Amino acid sequence: MGCAYPELAARRRDHGLRRDAAATATYDPFTYQRRKSSVISVMGHELGGERTVRVFTTQDRWNAIAHKIAAMGEFKPEATIEQSGVCQLDPRDATAIARINAAAEPQLITVADGIAMEVIHAFRLLAASADPRHPILLKDTLLPPPTHAATGTAEEALQATLSAACNLGSLLCDGIGDAILVRGEPAPGSSLRLAYNILQAAGTRIFKTDYVACPSCGRTLFNLQDTTQKIRAATGHLKGVRIAVMGCIVNGPGEMADADFGYVGGAPGKINLYVGKTPVQFNIPESDAVARLTDLIRDHGKWIEAPATAATQPI
Ligand code: SF4
Repeated sequence: MGCAYPELAARRRDHGLRRDAAATATYDPFTYQRRKSSVISVMGHELGGERTVRVFTTQDRWNAIAHKIAAMGEFKPEATIEQSGVCQLDPRDATAIARINAAAEPQLITVADGIAMEVIHAFRLLAASADPRHPILLKDTLLPPPTHAATGTAEEALQATLSAACNLGSLLCDGIGDAILVRGEPAPGSSLRLAYNILQAAGTRIFKTDYVACPSCGRTLFNLQDTTQKIRAATGHLKGVRIAVMGCIVNGPGEMADADFGYVGGAPGKINLYVGKTPVQFNIPESDAVARLTDLIRDHGKWIEAPATAATQPI
């Protein structure tokens, strides 16, 4: 059946892009596939292609935390935008796009600050217009970074977090982005933690245990919040292991996505454990279930002992 709004239908098909020659998508927006950029080296780190998505910061922020970078564990910055040699473009500027597309070598590119476009639209247009061999540095905001210290209100911090998660997460799930930069959150350490957590949530770069929990409803057979916290406390050091915590067996197993292990309410006070989507233990008393889950993880070779500092890692 035809759409009553043909222009809207065309824009949906184009992922919000106008169907002009400059915006012809170089990727299929309806199937996940990472944009096929070339691998380049920036400040000693390879990025692009299938390489790890890197975390950038600004030089000011790097300098502010330089004395403690070595102790930042998983939350280290990997490059600064100022030293990266990134080429900043207005994706609507056909001349600039033609110039970068004619470059002999792949070049890290990003959207220039201050242009009057929404972040997601701007980066989608850049990805559609620029030759895919050029890796893309994503930014959470196109506004000039705040120059003040981290004195914002809790409301401002929440807004910065939501904006960064929405903008960067959407683009990463499109398969766009070889590095990310978070500037809306002004505190240097918090902005790096936010960047890594966005990568983890998008499934792009797993640096800690991944949890999938159902939202709970009238069918939930145990206290989901308390149980999830107990499972986090026991397994939070298992980098890369995915654990699903589901309130019931009616819908839980179907919503566990690609979790490695599942903890699912089987009956009041009873838990079923899963390996992948296969139930392997049934009707375990709730009081024993977390310990049985850790035994199961151990039996499947995914257990390591917690380092002494794991309990203090921010999540
Ligand atoms: S998995 Fe079960 S308990 Fe959880 S939200 Fe879905 S139906 Fe409710």
